[in-house]
Amino acid sequence: MSVNYKIAIDGPAAAGKSTVAKRVAKALNYTYIDTGAMYRAVTYAVIKAGLDPQNEEQSITVLPGMSIDLLEDDTVLCNGEDVTAVIRTPLVSGNVSYIAAMKPIRLALVDMQRELANKRSVVMDGRDIGTYVLPNAEVKIFQIASVECRAKRRYDENVLKGIPTSMEDVIEDVKKRDYIDSHRDFAPLRQADDAIPLDTSDMTIEEVVDAILKIVEEKTGVKA
Ligand code: C5P
Repeated sequence: MSVNYKIAIDGPAAAGKSTVAKRVAKALNYTYIDTGAMYRAVTYAVIKAGLDPQNEEQSITVLPGMSIDLLEDDTVLCNGEDVTAVIRTPLVSGNVSYIAAMKPIRLALVDMQRELANKRSVVMDGRDIGTYVLPNAEVKIFQIASVECRAKRRYDENVLKGIPTSMEDVIEDVKKRDYIDSHRDFAPLRQADDAIPLDTSDMTIEEVVDAILKIVEEKTGVKA
């Protein structure tokens, strides 16, 4: 029987986790799971339904029967609707941390995330993967970078995607999300005791990917 390996990559907003996680998954032929996209999809559904994303009682009403699909080409479907682009807009980014602080919403999404990881080898990125979602992950990385560096990367990404933002707004969004994400009561953003910290401020994407693949090989014997 083949083993399902679990690679957890956590860290603050815009630390480059998804770009790196996607490449690591490709190199290993594992499935990449973007848990942030799932919280973003719920946030979009709440806003679309005209509900207040800071009101838990209202927000949780979108959960029953809700489906979120992460397709291999990075398309995100929410109740069958393609939400790939809209979940990256400032409106969703600015509200997602309120939604992610609601315990019933986290519990529902964590169930989906664990189910996905049970079926295959995964690279999963988020905030609580190493501490809460997959505490037995074979490899845990905590990816960090300075706020300036993260904001610059996110700003450049937004420009490429045609999302209008200013550098000041991006810095504010990143700081606000980090604060809310690390101060919530349930499964906050935190480095797991057994996670390996990786400061990527002065590293290229290739260097980060190579560093993680090396750690994977050391921990599991699996070679890319
Ligand atoms: O990773 P990304 O920046 O797209 O995540 C968006 C938001 O979703 C985060 O700021 C955080 O509030 C929430 N999140 C979370 N737990 C995860 C992944 C994301 O709370 N595992």
